[in-house]
Amino acid sequence: MALQTSTFRAARNEKSLARLEKSLPKIFPPEVLQHARRKALIPPTPRLCVESYWRHHPVRADRLARALARRSGAPEGWEWRLGGDREDGLPTSFRAPPAPFREKKYALGPGHCCVCGQKVYKLGWHIDLWGVGAEGNKNAAWHSCCVTAWNLWTAPSDHVRHLKRLQKNKCIATGVRLLKDAEVDHRKPLFKVWRERGDHAWPDLLGFWGAPNLQVINRAAHLDKSVRETGERARSRILSESSAESAVSDGDALQASSGLLSINGS
Ligand SMILES: [Zn+2]
Repeated sequence: MALQTSTFRAARNEKSLARLEKSLPKIFPPEVLQHARRKALIPPTPRLCVESYWRHHPVRADRLARALARRSGAPEGWEWRLGGDREDGLPTSFRAPPAPFREKKYALGPGHCCVCGQKVYKLGWHIDLWGVGAEGNKNAAWHSCCVTAWNLWTAPSDHVRHLKRLQKNKCIATGVRLLKDAEVDHRKPLFKVWRERGDHAWPDLLGFWGAPNLQVINRAAHLDKSVRETGERARSRILSESSAESAVSDGDALQASSGLLSINGS
């Protein structure tokens, strides 16, 4: 059985490699080619090689996407807002990473990446290796690295294997070895990031969705942390509700006193 599989794989890889070599552009990122050649199943097209490369390097993609976004900076007048209407492209929850260029108002149009705002080139690459010039790739709206970064930011649990490796399989919360049931957690919870949104500019904000704010911790430690955070959230909600109530009563008092003043004045 094993022999059959390996014979099948060898035959398939031979075909894929032949197909790849035929369609490979003269200039191609060497690290991507190396990655493709080392795969158990070799991707048969240059585009699939690029996609596979980033998919297997989510932490690198995350770092690059944030660096590219830093080059763009936030558009003038943009602020992190939530919306319920899908049309305007506003995120519906603070759990989604803020992405100004995905919003209708700030979209840069074809040829620009909707995550970082920089130009997209051939094969979804982020650098113009082929000298196609300022035009970029008009059919593309995502860098290949930004697709992977976005996946990591929105579904970090899918990348637990990579994140575990980053912390050498040790639980950050307890210092012991990570167990099979270990879970991905945001060091600073996203509800806090949203609450403190005034303190962080875009794209620095994206770091809270990326590797700098992700940690893998054992399930029991994660449960403890979640309970603590839920309590903290409830307390802050009560505080903000009571301060809103006192603002209302302050407002009533002010209105009442201004009424008095006008009565006195008349
Ligand atoms: Zn991008």
